[in-house]
Amino acid sequence: MNYDSSPIAAIATAPGRGGIGVVRISGKDISSVMQAVCGTTHLQARHATYLPFKNADGSVIDQGIAIYFKAPHSYTGEDVLELQGHGGPVVMQMLLARCIEAGQEIALRVAQPGEFTHRAFLNDKLDLAQAEAVADLIEASTEAAAKSASQSLSGVFSNTIHELVGKVVHLRMLVEATLDFPEEEIDFLEKSDARGQLERIRQNLDAVFNEAAQGALLRDGLNIVLAGQPNVGKSSLLNALAGADVAIVTPIAGTTRDKVSETIQMEGVPLNIIDTAGIRDGGDEVERIGIERTWGEVRKADVILHLLDATRGPTRADEEIVERLPANVPVMRVWNKIDLSGHKPAIDRMPDATHVYLSATDRIGMDLLRTELLRVAGWQQTGESRFLARERHLLALKAARTHLEVAAEHASKESQINDQALDLLAEELRLTQEALNSITGEFTSDDLLGVIFSRFCIGK
Ligand code: GDP
Ligand code: ZN
Repeated sequence: MNYDSSPIAAIATAPGRGGIGVVRISGKDISSVMQAVCGTTHLQARHATYLPFKNADGSVIDQGIAIYFKAPHSYTGEDVLELQGHGGPVVMQMLLARCIEAGQEIALRVAQPGEFTHRAFLNDKLDLAQAEAVADLIEASTEAAAKSASQSLSGVFSNTIHELVGKVVHLRMLVEATLDFPEEEIDFLEKSDARGQLERIRQNLDAVFNEAAQGALLRDGLNIVLAGQPNVGKSSLLNALAGADVAIVTPIAGTTRDKVSETIQMEGVPLNIIDTAGIRDGGDEVERIGIERTWGEVRKADVILHLLDATRGPTRADEEIVERLPANVPVMRVWNKIDLSGHKPAIDRMPDATHVYLSATDRIGMDLLRTELLRVAGWQQTGESRFLARERHLLALKAARTHLEVAAEHASKESQINDQALDLLAEELRLTQEALNSITGEFTSDDLLGVIFSRFCIGK
């Protein structure tokens, strides 16, 4: 791998002001920096030492704690020095600049986003799914997502994948052995119940996929679009879903200063809600780009909530709204204000769409909508998921599943399982294993690694 392994440094704490800020350095030969900044090379590993951080001329930048982690017992697996100072942006910048200056000879440079974790991956401190979980834990938008990310980080997801891979490897060995001893081929596969094994792996894989899908939902949430005429109650519905006043509700039509998008949570599942009322036409170039982007998100939505006023029927304006909405996204018609219209709270699955009757302000029928949203999302459990997962993992599991299915086809050719079928079976099992391995990062292309780690925040 063509990777610049020179020592790296970065401010590891969030930008802005805080009680403590941390500059982290990782790499070979960093003792020269330790000497220059901390005035010693004899920091006891994993012990906190209170000392002044000094400039080249001996002036003090800050007083703080230095901790040295000796390779391989560090986050990155390399020698790591952590300098904890006061958490102000200027003092942190000064400390970082001083470290870079002191590290000129060892080519110390500022780290790329995610580079510390990338090194942890390269040094086998974490596998790829765990490394992704680091970013997901930092980015988690709900408590349930954070808990699940933490589970993934500790290896629950990776272990589940490893177990699956182990079973595939076992079956592969059987098939390869059969290929090596052609006289006994049918018998051998029969005795070892190869088909039964295949079937059990498939069931196993489906169960893991299901869990991963829940985990991915916790991470990415459900994308919901609110559409409807002015004053039908879009902002009120957003508030009712959130259980708190997050949007601005106003009784004057067309004057809502709605936020374009908002993320709230429901049973720990993030709901990313876009209010199309906030998308205004016209404006300057920048605004138009923003509007385009928002419409792009609307097209990728999981569900559209088309709000209607239950005291009135659908109008020509409603038809125009429907015409503007993407045809490939499922629509729910939400009839609001039933406290005025006299409708009963209800859910009605019609051929054209699911209709929900509720009142946002009086909070009648809200549970029906919530349950339906979670159902549409495919959410099956309450509380936390066993691990967090990403779309990438789901795609890999799907690919594995497809290869398993083809493998099962080759194996099912009852009595006439010949060399050719066995070869194909072996190959499909190999591809199954490869797809599963891509989740934890064995056999993952450099391109993919680049994409994954570049999305990290700096200093992680
Ligand atoms: P938006 O323009 O679609 O975002 O609509 P708003 O949420 O701003 O609501 C417009 C007006 O309708 C406000 O005065 C709300 O209080 C009122 N409203 C919204 N939902 C209901 C409801 O369920 N029942 C009644 N009676 N009024 C509602
Ligand atoms: Zn509104």
